[in-house]
This record gives sequence, structure tokens and C-alpha cells, in this order.
Amino acid sequence: MNKSATKTFFKQLDRRFFMEQYKDLAHVDRAFPIGFGQTISQPSLVLYMTELLELKPEHKVLEIGTGSGYQTAFLAQFSKWVYTVETIEPLMKKAETRLKELNYHNIDFVLGDGTFGLKEHAPYDRIIVTAAAREIPPLLIDQLSPNGRLLIPVGNKDSQDLSLIRKDSAGNISVSFIEPVRFVPLVGDYEL
Ligand code: SAH
Repeated sequence: MNKSATKTFFKQLDRRFFMEQYKDLAHVDRAFPIGFGQTISQPSLVLYMTELLELKPEHKVLEIGTGSGYQTAFLAQFSKWVYTVETIEPLMKKAETRLKELNYHNIDFVLGDGTFGLKEHAPYDRIIVTAAAREIPPLLIDQLSPNGRLLIPVGNKDSQDLSLIRKDSAGNISVSFIEPVRFVPLVGDYEL
């Protein structure tokens, strides 16, 4: 994945397609409600998070928090396979319909709590959490491949640090803080 391919995709992908209410504001660079107390993420942040993942065509990716499926489209476009987990069934179903309509056939939609990852298909080259956690769930780090990357917002209700966790080829972990962000909470044991 190179930056210009991601940017081209970003420009081509119509965000309106992932929205119902607020469709007319799809071009505005901010999060909008998608029902059930959830939001579609800010487009510039979706692009930036995709770039930070440095996806490769052979990658297996785990996404926690499907929401509208907007970020999922980026993941599916630039990797081999995506497992995406969502707790709210109607959101999952809508995202699934949208992404099938866009002809993605490399996504598994999983209904449930993704706090503990998705052990049955681990390890993953990349894990992205699009909801905010109190701390980094250790099981997500366990489910990363060597040379893997995990991207997760960590903090409290008001502000979180977008955190990038890298696992090297020997399994050593390093954490870097990218920038302050504000996401809806990751429901469950690591809730804010
Ligand atoms: N990137 C998405 C953002 C969705 S908001 C988009 O742009 O549309 C975060 C989503 O995470 C919500 O849909 C919420 O229901 C889901 N979520 C919250 N906690 C979760 C959990 N423990 N497991 C799986 N999904 C969760």
C-alpha cells in the first residue's frame, strides 16, 4: 500500500453510501451519528489510520467496531482478508450489505464483543480498534503476528491517545502515541 493509492481510494469512495441521516453532510470532515449511539468516523482520521497500518496485499486484518463499514472498505481494499467485529447487529447487517454491494468478497462479519479479539483466526498482521479503551487489552497484543501492528485509541471519555503498538520479528513490543482523538467507547471489560 502506498500513500497515493490510499489517497486516490479516499477520494473515490463516496462516504454518503455509508450514511443515512446526515447524508448531505458527508463531505464535512467530522464524525456523524449513525444510530444506536454510534458514529461514522472522521474521514481524514480514517485515511490517516489506514496509512499508519501500512497494509500489504498479503495481510490478514482484524477490525473491532465495524460501525458503518466505512473504515472496513479501506482495510478490504488494501489487504487480503478482513475479519470485522461489531456488537450491534443492525449496524453489522447494514455494513455487510454495503460492502457486498461494493463487491468486496474478502470480509468476514462477526457479531460479538471484540474486546478479546477473535482467537479462532489469530494471529493477525494488523489489528485496528475503532472504539476507545481504558487500556490496551493484552489479548489483542497476543493475537498480533511478528512484525504486526495494532492501532487503538486509549484514554478516558474526553480524550484518548491514538496508540500504535508494534510487535517486532522477535515478539518485542513498542508503543507510540500518535495524536489525541475522540472515539465512542469500546463496550465491555475495557470500557472507559
Ligand atoms: N470506523 C467506524 C466507527 C464505528 S464507531 C465507522 O467509521 O463507521 C465504533 C463501533 O464500535 C460502534 O459501531 C460500536 O457498536 C462498536 N463497538 C463498541 N464496542 C465494541 C466491542 N466491544 N466489540 C465490537 N464492536 C464494538
